[in-house]
Amino acid sequence: MTDPTDTTGPRSGRVVVIGAGITGLTAAFTLATRHPGIDVTVLEAADRVGGKILTTPFAGRPVDCGADAFLARVPEARDLCAELGLSDVLASPAERSALVWTRGALRRLPAGLVLGVPTDLDALTSSGIVSPAGVERARLDLDVTEWPEGGPPADPDGRGDMSVGELVRGRLGDEVFERLVAPLLSGVNAGDADQLSVAAGAGQLAGAARANPSLITALRAQAKAARDAQADPDAPVFYGLPVGTQTLTDLLLSRLTAAGVPVHLRCPATALVRTAGGWSVTTPLGTIVADRVILATPGPVASRLLAGPAPTVSSHIAELDYASVAMVTLAVRRTALGHPIDASGFLVAKTDHLPTLTACSWASTKWAHLADPDVAILRVSAGRFGDTAALELSDGDLVAALTADLATTMGLTEAPIEARVTRWVDALPQFLPGHLGRVRTWRAELAECAPGVTVAGAAYDGLGLPACIRQGRQAALDAA
Ligand SMILES: Cc1cc2nc3c(=O)[nH]c(=O)nc-3n(C[C@H](O)[C@H](O)[C@H](O)COP(=O)(O)OP(=O)(O)OC[C@H]3O[C@@H](n4cnc5c(N)ncnc54)[C@H](O)[C@@H]3O)c2cc1C
Repeated sequence: MTDPTDTTGPRSGRVVVIGAGITGLTAAFTLATRHPGIDVTVLEAADRVGGKILTTPFAGRPVDCGADAFLARVPEARDLCAELGLSDVLASPAERSALVWTRGALRRLPAGLVLGVPTDLDALTSSGIVSPAGVERARLDLDVTEWPEGGPPADPDGRGDMSVGELVRGRLGDEVFERLVAPLLSGVNAGDADQLSVAAGAGQLAGAARANPSLITALRAQAKAARDAQADPDAPVFYGLPVGTQTLTDLLLSRLTAAGVPVHLRCPATALVRTAGGWSVTTPLGTIVADRVILATPGPVASRLLAGPAPTVSSHIAELDYASVAMVTLAVRRTALGHPIDASGFLVAKTDHLPTLTACSWASTKWAHLADPDVAILRVSAGRFGDTAALELSDGDLVAALTADLATTMGLTEAPIEARVTRWVDALPQFLPGHLGRVRTWRAELAECAPGVTVAGAAYDGLGLPACIRQGRQAALDAA
C-alpha cells in the first residue's frame, strides 16, 4: 500500500471510480482535491449517489433510511465533515442510554459497557439483565491470569483471530454474551456474533484481549488510561447530521461537480478488461479507458467485475456472506405508548428474540432535531443474517408484524399514523474470523494480477462510515 504521507509518484492519467457510495465518493473527492492533475470519472449504477446512505422526508422531517450516526472517537468521518464545512452542524445523540429486551421486559443497559462487555459488575447486577449466576460467571474473568488461548489472541491485522462468541463466552460466560454483547453487535451488522471476527467486528475487544488475560481488567485499564489522559468522559461517542446523513454524500457530489468530475448515474460498469496501457471499463455510455480503477461497489459486484482479470480474488470475494435488513420508520402517537421513551432505543437479546423486530431506535428521543411533543418517530429493524422471512412480507404485513412486537415490548396500543419501509437487500457483509488477513491476501493478489485496480468499501476493512471513508482515502492515495 502507498504511504499516506508520500507526495511523490504519478499524478496524472485517468482514474475511474466504480460505485458512488460513501467510499467511492470519498475516493473521487480525495483525488479531485489533492491531485487535480488526475482525470477522475465516477460511475454509479443507481439513479442517485450515496448507496446505503439515504435520507428522505418522513413525518415532515428528514429522517435517515439507513446510517444515522458515525463513531466520533475515530477521526475519519469527523475529518471529512470538517473538510466539507459540516463541523458546526454535527449533532450528538441527546440520549445515550439504551435498553435491551430480555427476560420479558425492557431493561436499561448498565453503565460501563464496552461493546456489551460489562466493566462494572455491581451495575450489571442492578440491571437485572443477567441472572445472579450469570454475574458470578462473569466475575470469574477477574481471576484469569493466563490467556486461555495459550497466548494473546487476534492482533490488529487479524492474525490469531477468533469469533466474538468464542472470546466473550470463554471469558465472561454465555449470559453476558447472549444478553449484552451479541445484541449490541448484531445491531451493527445484523449477523451472528458467534461467527463474527473479533478483529474485524469488535476491534476494541481484540485490543483488550491482547492486553490482559482478563477482559474486564483490560477494559478497566483502557478506561483508566483515558481518564488519566484527561479524555472528556462526556465527549460524544457518535455524531449525526441534523438534516440527515445524506448531507455528506450530497455535499461530496456537489464538490465533485464543482471540480468538473463527471459522476455518471444509471451507468453501471459491466466489464473490466486489461489493455496494453491500463484498463477498459464497459458501461452503457461505451467503453471508458482508465489507467487505474477503484472498485467501490458491494462485494458481489466487485467479484463479477474481477472474474476476468483476477479470477482467484473474484472467487474469494464471492464467498463473502451478506445480511439483508428492513428499516421500517414509524410515527406513533406518544399517548399510544405504554413505555416511556427515555433512551436512544432498545436491542433484542439473542435468547429472547421476538417474531420480527430485531432492534428499535427511538429516533425522536435520540436526536433533538427529531423531537416532537405528540409524535414518536421509531426506526425499527427486521431481518438478520440467514433469516429473510421479514423481508419477504409485504409492506403492510411487515408494519403489522412490527406493530405487534411493539405492543409486546412497548405497550403500543394503536397502529402507526405513518410508516415507511426501506429494504436493504444483501447490505451488511458478515466478517468471519480471519477476515482481515484474507483481505490483505486479496489485495496483494490483486496488485500482482490486476495492477492499478483497487478494492475498497464495506466488504473489506469494516462497514461503518469511518472505515469506508478511510478506505476511500487510501484507495485514492494508492491510485494517485
Ligand atoms: C440499514 C443500515 C444502517 C446502517 N447504519 C449505520 C450507522 O448508523 N453508522 C455507520 O457507520 N454505518 C451504518 N451502516 C453501514 C454503512 O452505511 C455502509 O456500510 C456504507 O454506507 C457502505 O458504503 P460503501 O460505499 O462501501 O458501499 P455502498 O453504499 O453499497 O455503495 C456502493 C455503490 O456502488 C454502486 N454500484 C453497484 N454496482 C455498480 C456497478 N456495476 N457500477 C457502478 N456502480 C455500482 C451502488 O449502487 C452503490 O451506490 C448501515 C447500513 C445499513 C444497511
